[in-house]
Amino acid sequence: MAIMLRNALLVDIDPISVASGELRIEDGLIAERGETVAQRVGDEVVDCGGCVVMPGMVNGHTHLYSALAVGMPPPPQAPQNFLEILKFVWWRLDQALDAESIEMSARIGAADALRCGTTTLIDHHASPNFIDGSLDLIEQAIGEVGLRAILCYETTDRHGIGGRDAGLDENRRYLDKYRVRQSNQFAGMVGAHAPFTLGDETLDELVRMADQFASGMHIHVAEDLCDEEACNEQHQAALIDRLAGHGLLKERNIFAHGTHLDPVAIERVSNAGLTLAHNPRSNMNNAVGYAPIAQYRCPVMLGTDGIGQDMFAEAQQAWYIARDVQADLAPQQIVGMFAVAARRASEALDITLGKLETGAAADIILTDYAPTTPLTAENFAGHLIFGLSSRHVRDVIVAGRWGLRDRTVLTIDEPLVRREATRTAENLWQRMEQY
Ligand SMILES: [Zn+2]
Repeated sequence: MAIMLRNALLVDIDPISVASGELRIEDGLIAERGETVAQRVGDEVVDCGGCVVMPGMVNGHTHLYSALAVGMPPPPQAPQNFLEILKFVWWRLDQALDAESIEMSARIGAADALRCGTTTLIDHHASPNFIDGSLDLIEQAIGEVGLRAILCYETTDRHGIGGRDAGLDENRRYLDKYRVRQSNQFAGMVGAHAPFTLGDETLDELVRMADQFASGMHIHVAEDLCDEEACNEQHQAALIDRLAGHGLLKERNIFAHGTHLDPVAIERVSNAGLTLAHNPRSNMNNAVGYAPIAQYRCPVMLGTDGIGQDMFAEAQQAWYIARDVQADLAPQQIVGMFAVAARRASEALDITLGKLETGAAADIILTDYAPTTPLTAENFAGHLIFGLSSRHVRDVIVAGRWGLRDRTVLTIDEPLVRREATRTAENLWQRMEQY
């Protein structure tokens, strides 16, 4: 059945535009857009009350596996630096993940995303003791909630050759699945943890696979200074030279963070035209410093790095931290980061995301944000930073289907899932104690 959205304040992000109008949604796509659109027999008509209607958000870098980490017990030893945060917190959590907790994390994370109007997730997954098939479990759970995703497994040399090969195999298996089966809902990338946990041979294997599938690689780069230092010590090379030497400076790749690249390295990354995922809340939480995103000329998108899935919150924080460090960032660039994420996801999923235009995917957020001050293309960024938030997300449509309606999740039995998730989290936290 088609859906007609009437009386909407249509806010586009790529490029920014604001206009009163109507949308007709059919077969998963925006079938018509206009000031007025003719209603047809059988259409479900929704009056948007003059409130903001905008494209669903894309989270450019996330880890759904952290969804059950909220409120977990503190590590046995307080971490003193980034490496210890990984060792004492995240590498204990990822080792404890089993099939049930992987799937439940993805289900809860996806439900959280839906509630925030985040309709596509670019995920980076790790579960060293359950690798084979882990991406299918995540896909299954995201599919139940009804979102889109670009998935990869975080290959690393941390667990020897066996663990490394299992990671490579999982990426290859998942990429192969979508080489033969076309989908606009799911796609794969080649996943890699970070240069400091990847040997030369493994980096070469990853690059070969990314070239073979033309998928691009999704990797953490220079999140902390330790990535550069480890490279200098172990490889007697600057990190950017090692990455370039192995062929990682390629347009399709996603580098998460780029917090600690120097101006020369930033120039080379910019020239490569790859996409940088900026995760300001995570960077603040790990006290790794601020990524100088204003210096990057390549596309920059926002990610949550697993701190929930709320892109409104991430956008606001991206602005405040930029002000705090006196970075040269204009408010419109925050909106631009939403556009970049949508373009990168569109490319992977072979469908137009992030646009309210005829033929684009019907991934749409209906808010109850009725602006009390003038809202124009020129000042939308101001509304995004200081007015709009995920609490205004009332309904969400993904691929033409209601996922959230009047703040109720329609795709899963959310209260039941959340009760079950609490038990899964308790067991997960208990298993973590052995690591
Ligand atoms: Zn990350």
